Amino acid sequence: MALFSSLELNPDKSTGSIKTNEKVKVLIIGSGPAGYTAAIYASRANLKPVLYEGLQPGGQLTTTTEVENFPGYPEGVTGPVMMEDLKSQASRFGADIRMGFATSVDFSGPVHKVVIDEEHLIEADAVIIATGATAKYLGLASEENFKGSGVSACATCDGFFYKGQAVAVVGGGDTACEEATYLSGLCSKVYLIVRKPFLRASKAMQERVMRTANIEVLFEHQTKEIVGDMSGVNGAVLLNAKNEERKIDITGFFVAIGHQPNSDIFKPFINTDETGYILTVPGTSKTNVAGIFACGDVQDKHYRQAITAAGSGCMAALDAERYLGEKS
Ligand code: NDP
Repeated sequence: MALFSSLELNPDKSTGSIKTNEKVKVLIIGSGPAGYTAAIYASRANLKPVLYEGLQPGGQLTTTTEVENFPGYPEGVTGPVMMEDLKSQASRFGADIRMGFATSVDFSGPVHKVVIDEEHLIEADAVIIATGATAKYLGLASEENFKGSGVSACATCDGFFYKGQAVAVVGGGDTACEEATYLSGLCSKVYLIVRKPFLRASKAMQERVMRTANIEVLFEHQTKEIVGDMSGVNGAVLLNAKNEERKIDITGFFVAIGHQPNSDIFKPFINTDETGYILTVPGTSKTNVAGIFACGDVQDKHYRQAITAAGSGCMAALDAERYLGEKS
């Protein structure tokens, strides 16, 4: 029996319902800047890549508004438009871009097997994993309402829109401290909302936060609600350790409570770190399995930018091309 790893962790179910199958040279799983860039390079190298877009075609950038830091767009561009541009560019060179979600894999043999939507089996000579990561959110209804109009999970992407204004960052780890420090250079005031009485971030990062005059750390505070109107966020209601309410006036609410790399189905075959990020050979996109490459946020917990994801997508396509060339 094949060693399929599925989201349901039920090999019989995932292999039992296969209706169709096909063989491809290069399969790309995921459609953010990493996946589409890999598709552009692989199709131009005549590798006839097939790309499955996943549950969120275009990836995390489709949840942001303006992107102003991707080179080549002097006037800025919206996340969804940029993803459409990357997709059209890949299609132009013949990449076969399809809707579908990888539900299980078997990377135990020389031919790599991936099941799409639990029913279509693809056998690929090389697989490029570009499944990204998902930002964690608090789970408040008001947070959902203001996503894209005041609520963001990326200060580097969206901080600029709050220049000179007061904002809040939630979280006590390195990301939250880094985002608060970054925002302190742009915004008039930054509240750092931390649920514990201490920060979890590295000492150096903590010290930087503590000595920045316009960052106010609110220890032992939780967010009860984000408030605003048609024009966006204008405040947040917090609860302290005694359950007392406090309202802060802010226009931006940045959630920095961690990311979850979308690597679950690969874990039985592909090495990850303790938080699930796929480990690649430094300076390459190679994983521990020959012919399986990883790029973008699923293997990057430090930079997480569209441009770095795109760069690593290029690396994955070039690594796959070299691998296939050496194999044939
Ligand atoms: P972490 O998991 O380290 O920290 C998450 C933070 O969010 C914690 O303070 C946690 O609180 C808090 N949190 C989680 N859930 C909630 C919630 N529901 N409500 C309120 N607060 C919540 O994630 P990071 O993204 O900060 O870091 C991930 C990894 O990446 C770490 O290993 C980090 O060191 C690394 N990193 C390194 C950087 C660098 O070296 N420059 C930069 C950024 C990240 P609690 O402490 O109570 O659990």
